[in-house]
Amino acid sequence: MSEWSESIDALIQNMTLLKELGQRSIELPVGFLATWDAASPVATPIATQGVPPSRPTSVAQSGKPAPFEKFKLPDSVELEETRAPVTGTALSADARVQALTKMAARVTVCTECPLHAGRTKTVLGQGNSNSPDVMFIGEAPGEDEDIQGLAFVGAAGLFLTKMINAMGYQREDVYIANICKCRPPGNRPPEQHEIHKCLPFLREQISIVRPKVIVLLGGTAIKALLNQAGVMRIQGQWTAYEGIPVMPTYHPSYIIRFENKGDEEGTRAAKLQVWNALKLVLTRLGKPLPAPKK
Ligand code: URA
Repeated sequence: MSEWSESIDALIQNMTLLKELGQRSIELPVGFLATWDAASPVATPIATQGVPPSRPTSVAQSGKPAPFEKFKLPDSVELEETRAPVTGTALSADARVQALTKMAARVTVCTECPLHAGRTKTVLGQGNSNSPDVMFIGEAPGEDEDIQGLAFVGAAGLFLTKMINAMGYQREDVYIANICKCRPPGNRPPEQHEIHKCLPFLREQISIVRPKVIVLLGGTAIKALLNQAGVMRIQGQWTAYEGIPVMPTYHPSYIIRFENKGDEEGTRAAKLQVWNALKLVLTRLGKPLPAPKK
């Protein structure tokens, strides 16, 4: 992919997210589009929609600080990765449950990657599948999850429950899933080829459940779904997947590791970062922020 098409993709993704968040116009420095046009190796496709006929002088030419002008966001942005999956919006609550039950049957017999050899049970995920406010996505089942066939029921699950409750929800109100549906040996992070084989299940699951917001827990989930490395860099910042707002944050195990080391300051700092991310989610959903504990 060329640098140009990467930056076009980034621009479109950004505009799509702004639209998702209800914004209908954006402000650009005067002359931005003229400069953009000049740099484009192809005819200008999306950036010029809604542009007034006469273009102002570019900033570089005038040398003055850029005043801002308003442009309407295009009504539809046709891009593969920003198009919402068809299945998600039209399904009834029953149809979603049925679709997930059928998927669970396929996951149970899946032998696409080596992880199938070591599993006790597959772990599809569970919770409210009828377009819940939040879908939490972690890494892969651990020992407890592998035994019970349920996501996040071990130590990390206990912490996740606290996070969910602190937001004012019960576990049954949200949907909980993982990138991989089988436990990696010794709870090691799943490998790239294992993620590659399992990801289509999660993509399908998201399109069925169609949550209002996705919370990605930890680096593996972030890398797998968004193809972005570096949890520290992007945690707490909105992004989007298939038109669904996504909030990346730390995995509960990250906080548990600080606790287990007796690092109180590290624990407090990590908890605060996660809580700040979850508060952004509540605000995005129009939910009240719980009062701070006395
Ligand atoms: N349990 C899960 O279900 N997922 C994780 O990522 C970790 C523990």
